[in-house]
Amino acid sequence: MSSINSFVDRNIINMITKVGPLVHPIFLKYKNEGHQLLIYYFHGLYESESQKKINHADPQNNLTLSQFQDFIDYFLENNYHFVGTKDLIQTESNDKPLIMITFDDGYFNNSLALPILDKYKVPASFFITTRNVTENRSYWWDIIYKYRSKQGVTKEMISKEQATLKSYKSEYIDSYIHKYFGAESTIPWSDIDRPLTPAELKKMATNPLVSIGNHTHNHAILTNYTSEEIEKELVVCNINLRDILGFEPVITAFPNGNYNENVLNIVKALGFRFAFTTYNDINPTHFPETGLVKLNRFMAQTGNIQQYAEYNRLNYMPSSLFYTTKHELFNRGKRGSSK
Ligand SMILES: [Zn+2]
Repeated sequence: MSSINSFVDRNIINMITKVGPLVHPIFLKYKNEGHQLLIYYFHGLYESESQKKINHADPQNNLTLSQFQDFIDYFLENNYHFVGTKDLIQTESNDKPLIMITFDDGYFNNSLALPILDKYKVPASFFITTRNVTENRSYWWDIIYKYRSKQGVTKEMISKEQATLKSYKSEYIDSYIHKYFGAESTIPWSDIDRPLTPAELKKMATNPLVSIGNHTHNHAILTNYTSEEIEKELVVCNINLRDILGFEPVITAFPNGNYNENVLNIVKALGFRFAFTTYNDINPTHFPETGLVKLNRFMAQTGNIQQYAEYNRLNYMPSSLFYTTKHELFNRGKRGSSK
């Protein structure tokens, strides 16, 4: 029964996906986007498509530089105003819809975005996992991807292995990497997978378009940790960033997007102003002048920018629209019949 349902469900979702792009221009024409802030997160960038094929990093949803430029072009053409973290604190009214670019993890390849950011005068925030930077250590998900691809393991199995490790603390992940791939495996293979060096990070931060944020010391998925450990991950990251940059960031992005009330309370108590999640939603454009503000983000994708950006601007996805509507109809039916 459930398989028939899911078959029907899938077909309806596919239909919405097909019809969506045809009606988006009409919806967008009448939608007031003036009071919404879209925030996107990126990970690594590739100089070209061919760099992706040599498997020096887990491609995730990493964009090429030309796709990154298309992303900026698209939003500029659609009247979006690019803002940085500093702009969020200024509460002057702005009728234009706002958009923000963020990068997670601290890859060296993020610095390839700078000439494009400079050219368009577009700001961006970079969230840094400090241990990778200070130790020139390859990111663990890339190590798994690189070695398993070489062994001929399927992408699906690689994803499973990575997903399993995400429920552990970094000590366990470190020992796992050491056990299965050896001590040498933490050495990056090239400019594609390596983190920024402290000197490169310091230089990047001098660009007025660049903001630097906390992404914990060990890329800690904070919901796996005790309160003391959560605080330590955030504090050690900020201390390292202070040593490199001369200041401590007041913005943080949760590794893998995971957080709970306890994490938020600790982040707030440490004095952070903005916490970036990976919850897919638009944000308001005005924020309280004090306290912690939690922000939603959409993931940048490799597909056609127009296709996924329209969904985000209208703030729905075919599957979520379908399931929400189905749930509403089902509950309404239940309420009706019980009377
Ligand atoms: Zn991350």
